[in-house]
Amino acid sequence: MSSLAAARADNFYYPPEWTPNQGSLNKFHGQHALRERARKLDQGILIIRFEMPFNIWCGGCNSMIAKGVRFNAEKKQVGNYYSTKIWSFSMKSACCKHEIVIQTDPKNCEYVIMSGAQRKTEEFDVEDAETFELPADEERGKLADPFYRLEHQEEDLQKKKEAEPLLVRLQRVSDVRHSDDYTLNKALRARLRNQKKRVAEEEAVSRRMGLGIRLLPKSEEDAATAKQVKFCSGFEKNKREKRAAITAAPVFKNQSTSSTAAKKRLELESKRRKIKAIAASNLLTAGISPSSWSQPSVSTSGAKRISVAARIR
Ligand SMILES: [Zn+2]
Repeated sequence: MSSLAAARADNFYYPPEWTPNQGSLNKFHGQHALRERARKLDQGILIIRFEMPFNIWCGGCNSMIAKGVRFNAEKKQVGNYYSTKIWSFSMKSACCKHEIVIQTDPKNCEYVIMSGAQRKTEEFDVEDAETFELPADEERGKLADPFYRLEHQEEDLQKKKEAEPLLVRLQRVSDVRHSDDYTLNKALRARLRNQKKRVAEEEAVSRRMGLGIRLLPKSEEDAATAKQVKFCSGFEKNKREKRAAITAAPVFKNQSTSSTAAKKRLELESKRRKIKAIAASNLLTAGISPSSWSQPSVSTSGAKRISVAARIR
């Protein structure tokens, strides 16, 4: 047996007395592959390096052992959670050699201190820490279930949508609307062209009718309403009477007209002419205000009266 421990540890040195039929070097040396760490293997204990998963208070001297401090711990199986083994780690603290026992907790994915120490409480309020809470254990378990995921996917998506900031949603809507600039521009220009054309047509119509303003487009409703309206004025009646008088009058004009109606009318006209003449002379001489003499009256001889007034001036 070689006494060169370092060479033995590396498992590279094959001493001259070794033959291949003697098996592996470990077997030849009569030792376990894990060396000293396997010295309690007959008790089911393997010695490993254990790293403290959280801050703890030592049970012996009450000093703090920080997360990440490493110990030589004896690891052994103490039970099962379903098919998962529950491991126990026992170690001696560096501060006071107090024994600390820690177990795994597969149900909660945690480490549990069994004896010799106390976990430093570092819990905090989710809101105070401005962070978010991880789903509860049952939820976490369910999330692994594809059917549960499928059933709740729609609801989750809805929740996500609601949680999105308003700006992001607006941005998305805007992106969708403005993704095709060409079509949008085309539609806008077409609309403007149509509008211009319509305005030009309306202006042409208003010019033809002698109006200073554009009229609204024709509507059937307006046309129907306009048709229902009947304007009653003296114009039609006067026109009819005049026509009747013309047809009744003799074709060849006679100086001494025999028609009594014509005589009467001539007399009336001469009377009116006299009255107007007097009023006009009064106006010229006495300076009566003009509003008193030219009272407009609806009559067939309106045009004649104006001509008289013009002559007097
Ligand atoms: Zn201690």
